[in-house]
Amino acid sequence: MSISRQCVILVGGKGTRLGALTKNTPKPLLPVGGRPFLSYLIQEAARHNFKRILLLAGFKADAFEPELAALRAAAPGVELTVLVEPEPLGTGGALKFAAPYLDDQFLLFNGDSFFDVNLLDLTSRPMKADGIGRLALKRQQDVSRYGAVEVDGEYVRKFLEKNPAGGPGLINGGVYWLNKAVLDHIGSGFVSLESDVLPKLAVAGRLYGTAYDRFMLDIGLPNTLEEAQSTVPAQMRRPAIFLDRDGVLNHDVEYAHKPDQIVWVDGAMDAVKAFNDAGYYVFVVTNQAGVARGFYTEDHVQTLHTWMAGELAKRGAHVDAFAYCPYHPEGVVPAYTKTSSHRKPAPGMILDLLKAWPVDKERSFLIGDNTTDIEAARAAGMPGHLFKGGNLADFAKTCLQAR
Ligand SMILES: [Mg+2]
Repeated sequence: MSISRQCVILVGGKGTRLGALTKNTPKPLLPVGGRPFLSYLIQEAARHNFKRILLLAGFKADAFEPELAALRAAAPGVELTVLVEPEPLGTGGALKFAAPYLDDQFLLFNGDSFFDVNLLDLTSRPMKADGIGRLALKRQQDVSRYGAVEVDGEYVRKFLEKNPAGGPGLINGGVYWLNKAVLDHIGSGFVSLESDVLPKLAVAGRLYGTAYDRFMLDIGLPNTLEEAQSTVPAQMRRPAIFLDRDGVLNHDVEYAHKPDQIVWVDGAMDAVKAFNDAGYYVFVVTNQAGVARGFYTEDHVQTLHTWMAGELAKRGAHVDAFAYCPYHPEGVVPAYTKTSSHRKPAPGMILDLLKAWPVDKERSFLIGDNTTDIEAARAAGMPGHLFKGGNLADFAKTCLQAR
């Protein structure tokens, strides 16, 4: 069972406003903080479970091939494919050319912008049957550099021309959740999604928009590319919430290992989403001694976590990584019978995650229902909050406010 969905990234444009910088290098491959800008976009997609990534290349497409290994290494588990348009087709034309490779619904990124939103919030919001897609919109104090977007409730109504007078407004954040039906509205030849397709869909009332007050930056100008060098890596350094599983996310029924044994704690999914929305990494750290005791296997644990991820995704929430410890000193399965530095109250699982992810540890904390959880947090150098039952979202809110 795979819940991994598709993310399409437009990487074919000419970075004309960047001059010599993009003479031989496509904009998304320009270095930001010492690595290709594109690698951040791939990581962001991957951690939201969009692990099948399709790059729509055009200008200087040959430059991608030598970078693919490094891009794949930046986000383990991603399936990365490059599709090269035969001639410059524009963003809409490139999408139409990719028709045989597109899922029925897919996420679309502009390859030169980074908008730090909870992608699953965008994708989980309901649309009517004739809805073609939903745009992530960014509230901007001054829209003079951009064409602003006019909304009416949930709907995008109009794309306005660039207005030098500027002023506050909403702009297109370069992140879209689209139905493949969008292709029916793309003519042949060179077509711009932004100028030719989306405005018509907006007028027809078939385009949704959601505004997010989150960090956004595009690297289209020399000064924004310069700004990105520090701001984009800094944005990736996030606080993290470490959640115990049994007794926190789901009611503890002892050795749960199948979906039908999972009863979610009240507010559990909302709590995870609240942390996602607030820009936290969310990690699950769970002792699974049932593996050592021979009650179930690691496969069961992983399959269950995949199922939990799918349930969370429907509610706009996700877990960035599930860590579990299958070991116990009194096991019956020899391979798992040992004292482990990863079994809570030891902090091994937390320490591994701190090493693997760019976590702002000072602002991170754990929620557990057992004193061994709290001890593990303390041993890893962060606070732990003891959850004694009730509504997890309410509890999470008080934890967040206490930060
Ligand atoms: Mg527990």
